[in-house]
Order: sequence, then C-alpha cells, then structure tokens
Amino acid sequence: MILRRFLHEKSGILREVPSKDALPDGYNQAMSNEAIAQQLLELAELTDYVGDSPFKSRAYRQAARTLETLQTPIETLAEGGAAALEAIPGIGEAIAEKILAYLHTGAIPKREQLLQQVPRGILEVMAVPGIGAKTARQLHERLGVSDLQSLRNALMSSAASSILGAQKRERLLRLVELKHKSQRRTPLGFALPRGRELLQAIQQLEGVENALLGGSVRRMHEDVGDLDYLVATAQSEQVIEAFVRLPHIAEVYSQGANRAQAFLSDGLQVDLKTVPPQSWGAGMLYITGSKAHSIRLRQRAIEHGLKLNEYGVWRSGECIASDTEEAMYAALGLPWIPPPLREDAGEFEAAEEGRLPHLVQLAQIRGELQSHSTWSDGFNTLEEMAQTAAALGYEYLAVTDHAHMLGANGDPMTAFEQRRREIEELNERLNGRPYLLNAIEVNILADGTPLAPDAMLRTAQLVLAGVHDDHGQPPEQMTQRLLRALEHPAVDILAHPTGRRYGKRPANDADWARIFERARALGKAVEINGYPTRMDPPTPIARMLVESGAWITLGTDAHAVRDLQAMELAVGLAQRAWATPERLLNTRSRDALLRWLSDRRSER
Ligand SMILES: [Zn+2]
Repeated sequence: MILRRFLHEKSGILREVPSKDALPDGYNQAMSNEAIAQQLLELAELTDYVGDSPFKSRAYRQAARTLETLQTPIETLAEGGAAALEAIPGIGEAIAEKILAYLHTGAIPKREQLLQQVPRGILEVMAVPGIGAKTARQLHERLGVSDLQSLRNALMSSAASSILGAQKRERLLRLVELKHKSQRRTPLGFALPRGRELLQAIQQLEGVENALLGGSVRRMHEDVGDLDYLVATAQSEQVIEAFVRLPHIAEVYSQGANRAQAFLSDGLQVDLKTVPPQSWGAGMLYITGSKAHSIRLRQRAIEHGLKLNEYGVWRSGECIASDTEEAMYAALGLPWIPPPLREDAGEFEAAEEGRLPHLVQLAQIRGELQSHSTWSDGFNTLEEMAQTAAALGYEYLAVTDHAHMLGANGDPMTAFEQRRREIEELNERLNGRPYLLNAIEVNILADGTPLAPDAMLRTAQLVLAGVHDDHGQPPEQMTQRLLRALEHPAVDILAHPTGRRYGKRPANDADWARIFERARALGKAVEINGYPTRMDPPTPIARMLVESGAWITLGTDAHAVRDLQAMELAVGLAQRAWATPERLLNTRSRDALLRWLSDRRSER
C-alpha cells in the first residue's frame, strides 16, 4: 500500500515489457493520446537517468498528464499545426514539436537518442514503484541491473540492501515477484470468480456509476493475463484512490488520474481505467479488446474519415458516438459484435454481410453431459450432484463415472449394476428433476480401443470416450486412435478431444478436420469441455469443430457439485467457436436428447 506513485511520475512504462498482456486488451500502439503520454513519460525518465535538466523532465510529465486526460484525439488537434497544440495548457513549443514528430513518424527523436545512452531495459526498472532514476543508476553501476530480470536477481542477493536498505529491498522484491508471476496466464475458470468478487467491490465505491470486467475475461478467452476493469465516473481521482485501498489489492503498481495498475495477493494483475459516464460505450469497446479487433476498428474509423479512441468516435473534433457499444459500432457502420467474437477472426466480414452467428447462451442449456460421482473419482454422491443440477434448473444430468474405476476392488459390472439401481431409485424419488442418465466415460487405449466390459458399453445409456493416458503420440497415430474410438459402435461422444491440461500438458496434435468430419458422418458428438484446467478443445480447434457440422456436447467434467458451475465456461468456449444452439445437444429437451440416443442405439 505504501508503494504508490502517481502515473505522471511512474506511468505504466512497464507496459513496454514485451509480454502479451502487458498492454490492456483494447490498447494498441496507434497514435492514441495515451500512447503519446507514455512516450513523454518515458522521455522524462530517460532525461532524469542521464542527468539532464530536471525542468525538462518536469515539463514532459506535465504534458503527459494533460494528454492522459484529454479526450479529443490529439491527431485531430494536430491538424491545426503546432500553434493548435501549443494552445493546450502545459504544451509548449518544444513539446508540440515532439508530438508532431511522433504523429508523423511514430517516434520522438529525443527519446530514441536517449535510449541509445542507457542500459537496455532500464525503463522497465524505473517503472517499478520505488525506483527512481537515481536508484536505477546505482543499481546499474553497482549491481549490473539493466532490466526486470537482472533487477529480480539483484534483489534476491543481500548486496541490494546496501543500496536500498533491507526493508525497501524486501518490498521491491515482493513487487517484482508479483510482476514476474503476473506474466503467467491464469485459466479463465480461476480468474472469473476472483474478477467478479472484485467487480462487486468496485461497484460499491462512491462515485462509481457503472463498472465492467472487460478484457479477455469478457471475451471468455480460455486463459487471462490480467483483470481489466472499466469504471464510469465523474470523480475519477477519488474512485482510483478508493480502488487502490480496497482490501483485495495487495500491491499498487501505478496510480494516475484515470488509470491504476495493481496486484491481488495471488499475483493476478488488475488494471482499472476510468472514463466519464458519457463515454461508457467507448470505454467498454476499448477495455474489451482484443487488440487485433481494436486495431481493425481503428482502421475502419480512419477509412470512414473518423477517429476512434476510448472516449468516442470523432468526426473533425466532434464526438458522434460514445455512450453505448451499439452506438459505437453503428457509427462505424457495424452491428454490435458479441465480445467472444472480437478477435479479428472473420467477425468484421460476417458483420458486414449480416451473418454474425446467434451464439448459444447459458440460459439455453438444459442439461449437463459429463459429471462424476463418488462411484468413481467424484467428491459428491449421485444425489448431491442431482440436487445441484436441479438447482441449476437442468432437465437432465449424465452421470459419466469412469468405467475403469467402478468397483475398483471387485467386479466392475456388479458396481455398474448397483449404480444403475441407485440412479433408477433417484429418478423415481426426484421425479425426474433432473433425470439422471446412466452413462459412463471410458478411457481410449493407445490403439483406440475403449476400455470397458462389453456388457457395460452395451447397456449404458450414453458412452463418453476420452484419452486419459499415452498423450503426445505422433499426430497420425493420435488421429487413428481417435477415429477408431469414434467408430466403436458403443461410443456416443468424444470427450475433451485434445487432452490439454493447464500447467500439465499441451493439446495433443491430430488431424482434427478429419476426426470431426468422421464424427459428423457417423452422427456422433464431440465435447467442448469447460473444466477450468481443461477448456478443451482450444478456441481454434473448437471453431473447426463447429464448422464441421458434427454434433457437439458441452460438459463441465464436474467432479464435485461446485464444478457444475463451469457450464458457463463451456458455453463461453463454444461462443468463441461461433457455436449456435442447433448442433448443441445440451440445448435439447430431455426427450429430444433421449431420442437422439435411442436413434443411435438402434443403429448399433
Ligand atoms: Zn475424462
């Protein structure tokens, strides 16, 4: 909490660290006011580092501060030449010249020149709150610190104490470790609940008129680099002041007039950006990204003779749209594009041609198609799972205990029969709310054989088959393995197709187009798995699945009642894959689902 600096001293210069998520999603390197402000802040840091006049660096910081809060796009003002720029308070002749140079060439010559005189990476060192130019210099000269990595190493050795003092060294080490950890991506399923909890707290802050959790979370990206918040407020500085004091915030990295960057205790990075209430829609667009989508939008604006920034769409200095996302898109000649599609992956073309998909929604999901109970490796009983499914309003729940774990110490068929009786008894007692399907999940052996007794495969109401070991086979072998499993007459659904697990193993490679095409031809389904550490298949492969026209099921792979909530993640991934309800079996009623199964059974 003590480690706080104002953005005009310590901007998010660290955003120049070449990490994918160092920039907020909606940000791009185009000539936004913020980008120029950042250049000027860096110029100030460099000026201090080389020991040039402190008056100069103060002037640069002042100008940056002005640009940060300026809403009209600077390019628009620059159309009036240097004189128009100098009319902005805090911007004199020398700085106006630098801004023009940046607008024309994408660089400020003075900054480039100073960069040649300093250690590479020193800007990211000076961006650490608590390290000014003088300290950075000492750290460089005495301990060889030249970037974040060498700073981390230096802070780990006791030698840094002689420069910083023991207490400060410890504080900085904590911050740098958090920064280091935050470079890792967090699975959406872990980031989402934390993000929502913090969103609630932000919404309660005085002066907050509206708040949104944007970025990759809003786009339902399978993993996220940080949590990006947007706040609409007329009292930006007070809101930011209150935000950095929230108990959720472990460390503050930077704090300015309309932006703050901080860390939660587990290292998750949090960025908060404020806009005036009338810029809510523009801010939403900006904070949601993706970067690629924002760049296309910006280009589109330019093609239409307009300018786009986080405050609105502008026509020669006049704001023509800003309050809603719909208005923003409309001003650019587009319908509203759902966040999971905003990846510059064909959504602009589809929007122009009026063929944006009507994406599946969580409310359309009528049942769960992968879950586990205490009969195999689940934590909750069938009844507990059923009750939670009922509370979610589901019509059905497929209980897909692992076949090879049934009756682990005895006869699997006996255990399967016992479980079947319990399922029937529950179906009677719960009156079919939800209806439990007597299903199983089987391992696909290395050669493609589903591992379960024939009698079980024949009599289960639904059979899911998935790869659980022998991962990483050569692609052709994996392809043959999955094709063989699909072709087995008892198999209905190919579960978690690529086998990826966050922090454990990457997706298996295989000829997915061929596998999905075979599933389609056989009338079988492929699962989109929403278990937080799975999220399988990854977006591009899930999109191939949707395009293949094969049946799709959504499954949370729940091993405990709370995991059933992950349906939201499965739906998010399906949306990113452009899935509509038609081919998703979970959107069917219980009777329609049973019909689909019995049609397939009769073909066996
Ligand atoms: Zn499985």
